[in-house]
Amino acid sequence: MFALGDAANRNPPRLRLFDRFGARRDEVDFHPAWHDLMRRLVGEGLHTGPWSEPASAAHVARAAGYMLWAEIENGTQCPATMTYGAVPTLARQAEDFDGWLPLLLSREYDPRFIPAPEKRGVLMGMGMTEKQGGSDVRSNTTRAVPAAAGGPGREYRLTGHKWFFSAPMCDAFLVLAQAPGGLSCFFVPRFLPDRTPNTLLLQRLKDKVGNHSNASSEVVFEDTYGLLVGEEGRGVQTILEMGVYTRLDNATATAGLMRQCVAQAIHHARQRKTFGQFLIDQPLMRNVLADLALECESHIVLALRLARAFDAQQDEMESVLRRMLTPVAKYWVCKRAPAVIAEAMEVLGGNGYVEEGPIARRYREAPLNSIWEGSGNIMCLDVLRAFAREPRTHQVLEAVLAGSKGRDARYDRFVAALLTELENPADGEFRARHLTQNIALAVQAAVLLGNGPESSAQAFLASRLASGPPASFGTLPVGVDSGAMIERILRF
Ligand SMILES: Cc1cc2nc3c(=O)[nH]c(=O)nc-3n(C[C@H](O)[C@H](O)[C@H](O)COP(=O)(O)OP(=O)(O)OC[C@H]3O[C@@H](n4cnc5c(N)ncnc54)[C@H](O)[C@@H]3O)c2cc1C
Repeated sequence: MFALGDAANRNPPRLRLFDRFGARRDEVDFHPAWHDLMRRLVGEGLHTGPWSEPASAAHVARAAGYMLWAEIENGTQCPATMTYGAVPTLARQAEDFDGWLPLLLSREYDPRFIPAPEKRGVLMGMGMTEKQGGSDVRSNTTRAVPAAAGGPGREYRLTGHKWFFSAPMCDAFLVLAQAPGGLSCFFVPRFLPDRTPNTLLLQRLKDKVGNHSNASSEVVFEDTYGLLVGEEGRGVQTILEMGVYTRLDNATATAGLMRQCVAQAIHHARQRKTFGQFLIDQPLMRNVLADLALECESHIVLALRLARAFDAQQDEMESVLRRMLTPVAKYWVCKRAPAVIAEAMEVLGGNGYVEEGPIARRYREAPLNSIWEGSGNIMCLDVLRAFAREPRTHQVLEAVLAGSKGRDARYDRFVAALLTELENPADGEFRARHLTQNIALAVQAAVLLGNGPESSAQAFLASRLASGPPASFGTLPVGVDSGAMIERILRF
């Protein structure tokens, strides 16, 4: 699997705009390793498993699998997460998309560029970002006009562009465009009902820092066929349902990415000798490794706690929690990845910085999940919005944190200060990162105290809650059980 991941990234996809006779194709060719990985990923149900086989902990189980997948390869996770997120949106309008839903739930990966009804399985992407703005999608200029009478499920014609349009070989996309009634969401398939290609004029593939296995394109729409999803003017709300799921995946995938790098660092330290001793036995290196391991564990538990809220959507309290904790986890887990992975790379010394090693590719992936699908600041502003729109949010957070109350004075003090701070509305935007970070730390501490091993909980309280998240790793106080934390992250 690692070899496939390397091959898919060393042999990036190529744009094939025209066929040999000059007719437009607008296709992307991928290396066989990409297809092999996609076949396995879809076969495991890591794209839509919780929708095809609902169970009490289906989202948690998928999140755990998705986390493991992130340890192998990340480009393939892009179409997988967009497909995961698209299903609930389309299921709301099942009368218009009932032919698509079974194909989205299929465990067969079918990469053929043919109309969906002829395929064994399909995947979905999305198009929101335009040149003038990705965060502020209301600035979108792509226009949509109804072909006849407008309305949900009806045909519209789209003209405009998308500046980022990843996985363009997906079979259909949710796309935002300005309809007569305002910004709206459209279902744009690659093929028309008459089985001829829809007009998706791919312009270029982005030359990205990392994520080389995956194609991210720029696209132009010219009288492009699309069906309205939801009501006209409700595009942001409609497409954000998809975004909620992809944001959960940003957190789980990034936790997995970090865990793989830290496991590689520990593995290296167990075998590398300096000054006559294995690195793993040298006290300062033990502090670095244990600190990295603790950081990873805290992100794994936060992402899985969030996934639990996705499983409990019928529970009102969990539903309120999910609304607020999704941007919190997306922000905090993704924000920590570049620092964690850079430190893991340094454990391998010079070997860490060469492409043959396991970390280089993952280092290039590290910043991505923080940027796309709502960059850091946008997530923090969304946390404020969650508190402003749903007054019970404060109370629900308090109840969740109360589960671990009374077990440690440092935790109790931290939680009390946080809850007071959240009641202060002054300069909310200016303080939004600080608030979001502290909510994340409080929930991580609550889960570690409630369910984690004592060694991790105690070290977390003594470091993160006592003096804030470390700017650099290897600063755990004397007395923590470094061996337990190092062993635990290897066993995860
Ligand atoms: C590899 C990759 C693949 C992508 N794939 C897709 C895709 O398939 N489909 C798609 O639609 N998009 C895709 N994107 C685009 C991505 O979602 C956007 O880049 C992202 O949402 C940010 O938008 P922007 O680039 O326009 O930055 P801007 O919106 O210009 O934001 C720039 C910075 O300003 C901050 N900011 C914005 N507003 C505020 C504010 N009010 N207060 C404080 N700070 C603010 C943001 O957090 C950000 O850090 C992809 C991006 C990448 C890198």
